[in-house]
Amino acid sequence: MKNAAGTSGLIMNEPLLWERGKKGRKGMSIPEHDVPMVQVDSAVQGAGPDFPDLSEVDVVRHYTRLSQWNFGVDTGLYPLGSCTMKYNPKTNERQAATPAIAGAHPMLDDEYAQGTLKIMYDLQQYLKNITGMAAATLQPSAGAQGELTGMLIFDAYHRSKGSKRNKILIPDTAHGTNPASAALCGYKPVPVASNADGVLDVETIRQLMDEETAGIMVTNPNTLGLFETNIREVAEIVHAKGGLVYGDGANMNAIMGIVDLSKCGVDVMHLNLHKTFSTPHGGGGPGAGPVCVTKELEKFLPIPHVLKDDDTYRLDWDNPDSIGRVHGYHGNYGVLVKAYSYILTMGADGLKKASQLAVLNANYIKEKLKTALYLPYDKPCMHECVFSDAKQHELKITTLDIAKRLIDYGFHPPTVYFPLVVQGAIMIEPTETECKEDIDQFIETILVILEEAKENPEILHEAPTRTKLKRLDETLAARKPCLCG
Ligand SMILES: *Cc1c(COP(=O)(O)O)cnc(C)c1O
Repeated sequence: MKNAAGTSGLIMNEPLLWERGKKGRKGMSIPEHDVPMVQVDSAVQGAGPDFPDLSEVDVVRHYTRLSQWNFGVDTGLYPLGSCTMKYNPKTNERQAATPAIAGAHPMLDDEYAQGTLKIMYDLQQYLKNITGMAAATLQPSAGAQGELTGMLIFDAYHRSKGSKRNKILIPDTAHGTNPASAALCGYKPVPVASNADGVLDVETIRQLMDEETAGIMVTNPNTLGLFETNIREVAEIVHAKGGLVYGDGANMNAIMGIVDLSKCGVDVMHLNLHKTFSTPHGGGGPGAGPVCVTKELEKFLPIPHVLKDDDTYRLDWDNPDSIGRVHGYHGNYGVLVKAYSYILTMGADGLKKASQLAVLNANYIKEKLKTALYLPYDKPCMHECVFSDAKQHELKITTLDIAKRLIDYGFHPPTVYFPLVVQGAIMIEPTETECKEDIDQFIETILVILEEAKENPEILHEAPTRTKLKRLDETLAARKPCLCG
């Protein structure tokens, strides 16, 4: 291999600040006092926290060194893709930090909040355009909360029809949050097996859908990175029995400006602004999971809802059919601003191009690696491709070994052992921002590792070998984390 993305080298050890500090060290010099000294009450004096004494350079080096132990999308290609964190243009952070926006008080009366309300109103319009749906709410603060909002809307809809339904169809390629959200609303998830092509089977749906079933939750593209080609027929079957179709749109990165979800028969869907629309969310937050619905379901959306009368924006609370509030104030406002900024800076053509490139990059990787790694569904994929370690079984090399060895070469491992329908899954989502040279380097690295697997399998079992810490007992590391480096 010409050049690995990473080498070992100047990665510093770093003690805790308490070990680094030394009594009497100071972070800054302040002028001599010019007022008489006063003895502070000893009870107060002794009550302070046990902070270490440190110089400025101690602190700067400490945090800079810690930051160098991390790998992020600003460091290199991150094959976990939009699902975890794609590269987000920095300008969107700047817009969200604009003092007039970041400092706006959430309890301002509408007349003093016209700008912030306009951003919300326009963002709702953009999301409606992008998805093809009729109405939107920005309140939910994550994909899973969007799903919960959607399920509450399903429930409100069925109750409005006087119909009692207690089950919901969930394909085995759906995201794990789908059955959990449905169960929270009292629906019993009914698993639906996907067919040999990795997508929903029309006949299976026809057999399972009945008048006790509230509808179906479809992740599209599904977690195998495949487009649900039978979605329309599936929707027709579900609708014919009075059910609704929920579209999990967390994977919009593959289909922005390309697929009109309303034409696919989707009634309710969410988007993950923190995945597709420019919010860094590594480590679990922050997020926003706006929900879009058809005209018929608009009245069930959470309140308050931003409306526009002539040129004036206002929060509308007057909606007796609403499921109520699902978030305090205006949702996760900073995330909404980043999405607004991202959509405006990309434009309609730019968003479509981003999806096209995300899909192209994933298919390129799929084609380049499919002889070396087992590809369970050999057909065009969307924004991600899913391999497995089946070809490496006879060498006793597993997905985990390959993932850990990637770290030695300076790459973050991809998603492993998910989706569950593929044993030993290796899911790669490169996203749109990676150039061909970086993708080629990633591909070459995997190929080198798979050669090593044949010639020197031991090194893969031991990997990572070039990191500060070697292979950890993952269960122990999760249960009893040692945070002192
Ligand atoms: C990430 C994801 C979710 C859940 O979104 P959160 O914001 O993490 O709650 C749901 N569905 C799919 C397909 C996802 O990728």
